[in-house]
Amino acid sequence: MSTVSTQRKGKPARAKPPAESASPQQGSLVERKLQRLGLIEPQDFVVHLPIRYEDETQIVPIASLRPGQSGQVEAEVLRSEVLFRPRRQLSALVADDSGELALRWLNFYSSQQKQLAVGNRIRIRGELRSGFQGPEMVHPRVTVAGTALPSALTPVYPTTDGLSQPSLRRAIDKALETADLEDTLGPEILGRYGLIPFAQAIRVLHHPPPDVSYSDLIERGHPAWRRIKFDELLAQQLSLALARAARLKQKARPLAAGAGLLLALRANLPFRLTAAQERVACEISNDLLRAFPMHRLLQGDVGSGKTIVAALAAAQAIEAGAQVAIMAPTEILAEQHYLKLAGWLQPLGVEIAWLTGSLSIKKRREAGERIASGQAQLVVGTQALIQDKVVFAQLGLIVLDEQHRFGVGQRLQLSRKGEAVKGGTEFIPHQLNMSATPIPRTLAMTFFADLDVSAIDELPPGRSPVVTKLVADTRRSEVVAHVSTEIRAGRQAYWVCPLVEESEALQLQTAVDTHLWLTQALPDVRVGLIHGRLKSDEKAAIMAQFRQGDIDVLVATTVIEVGVDIPNASLMVVEHAERFGLAQLHQLRGRVGRGGNQSVCVLMYQTPLSQIARQRLRAMYETTDGFEIARRDLEQRGPGEFLGVRQSGQALLRFADLETDALLVGQAQELAAELLKSDIGMAKRHLKRWMRGKQDFLRT
Ligand code: ADP
Ligand code: MG
Repeated sequence: MSTVSTQRKGKPARAKPPAESASPQQGSLVERKLQRLGLIEPQDFVVHLPIRYEDETQIVPIASLRPGQSGQVEAEVLRSEVLFRPRRQLSALVADDSGELALRWLNFYSSQQKQLAVGNRIRIRGELRSGFQGPEMVHPRVTVAGTALPSALTPVYPTTDGLSQPSLRRAIDKALETADLEDTLGPEILGRYGLIPFAQAIRVLHHPPPDVSYSDLIERGHPAWRRIKFDELLAQQLSLALARAARLKQKARPLAAGAGLLLALRANLPFRLTAAQERVACEISNDLLRAFPMHRLLQGDVGSGKTIVAALAAAQAIEAGAQVAIMAPTEILAEQHYLKLAGWLQPLGVEIAWLTGSLSIKKRREAGERIASGQAQLVVGTQALIQDKVVFAQLGLIVLDEQHRFGVGQRLQLSRKGEAVKGGTEFIPHQLNMSATPIPRTLAMTFFADLDVSAIDELPPGRSPVVTKLVADTRRSEVVAHVSTEIRAGRQAYWVCPLVEESEALQLQTAVDTHLWLTQALPDVRVGLIHGRLKSDEKAAIMAQFRQGDIDVLVATTVIEVGVDIPNASLMVVEHAERFGLAQLHQLRGRVGRGGNQSVCVLMYQTPLSQIARQRLRAMYETTDGFEIARRDLEQRGPGEFLGVRQSGQALLRFADLETDALLVGQAQELAAELLKSDIGMAKRHLKRWMRGKQDFLRT
């Protein structure tokens, strides 16, 4: 403890051994951590590839370090102490011939303090930052000075809490000794696409030779990366094509409409379908006639009128004697669908059931019975629909609204709700996925090779695009005045409260405060409040009041983000718009502009804006086109996050990038088709290497 020069109140530094030290239990701990990364068999380690590399081949003088850059130095410890202000930290000063360097740790072990004993010579690696007291390294890595330097770049792997890079590296190297690195692709194919052998690529990436170009490795332009990306894309294309082939072999009940319900529904509509709606309705109708399950994505921008298209499909299915399930991601949205569909279909004699998690046990049981007996022809609800207990008599069509909001697992569960028919054949329900998040072509092509896509590319007539205004929140009073004018003109407004990601309670509090404040600021206006903590009947009651015009301004958290359709609302105010993502802002803006009135979306922001927030707000200001927004969103966020696969914990593509590797995507597609026709064995070998444990995921 000689290095502790300032120690108050006797809070001794805890002696906690680093996670990687080897005792028998520790071994299994490391194994558990490895498992968490999906690293079980040698094969898994082989393709657990570095996210970056560090250059530890050189020692540089302290004076040559620049802020923002990483570097490695060797120096002598001049001072080292534990400070307690502003918080407990380990602080040290070291020097070499060229200059001095400050080091700081906010969490540390006593072993680190020992390493930093005054007079010790140490090797330090880290990023130089400009701190309050001048340049410093925070949490640098420290080892003893004078040991041999590596001759090649050091890989840095994706890891998890408590699993150090050295232990992970050791585990990978060990696995590489026994793993099968045989090429899955033949020499002719490698030649044709200019690919290097798999084993060579793997060796280069785990142990870059000294002469390899640092930037090629980092930018992933090296032939080794190219090979890996190609392999990954090929595996993806293969499994999507296989999924499609499997689907075509499945049995679905063909659903042909008669001359009654569908025609009656069309005849009663208060509007004429747009040409785009007619076209997609026709595509869906044809799919439903087939004896294998439809798997179609209906995409259409917010407000383009997807619900009626779903209703037409439902009418066709019901008329053919099948049951239809329509599932929405929130109760508010499910309720709205229920009201709308009931309005259209109940007068025509269709039996509708309503099922959500918040129903009383009794009501749920009643609904369950009507569904199981087949009496309920149309079932509208939330996730509750996919609970195991819900049994359908003859489910023929599933509609998922805002499909990207559902987890992969949920989608999978629903598609298994088919009917087991006497005689053994199982009918899989047709499936219609609806989304207002338009998926850019490149994405649709790769992620959804087994999904047919229909697009509504036109809005109903008479809509003028929503005008977007960006307003600093210092001009709040002007916004309130705008609300007041709009209400006096007989229209309605939403006021969306800021997203508070770190705390739901705080978010709720903000909504309550905003409600109070607006009520006072607009004394003659009826201000309502809706948020996720309300009971569902309370939420439903408030939405009903807003729909009927008994509430003028609805203060809301993001519970109203998707799907809500109140045509008389013409003003959307979003507070702290800089905290929302692009897709979310587009969804929010889509809540207005649904009637004939000129609508306005006010995005209030607080300065200073980050670079990315500025880009997002600009995108919102510049365009109302959902496809363009989606394209920019993809650019800013990357495909994994875009598709919501991040929630499922496993992005489909780890190495390839659909935008920058578009050429490889095309080649992989071509080769996948060829292999499936002429060399199934090769296809299977390849899939086995790349798709361990992911097959289910791909099927959705
Ligand atoms: P979304 O595609 O966002 O789900 P909705 O289905 O909620 O859109 O439709 C938006 C609004 O437009 C609804 O009020 C709906 O009744 C109306 N609508 C749909 N199709 C038409 C049409 N062809 N002409 C006029 N209004 C339409
Ligand atoms: Mg909708």
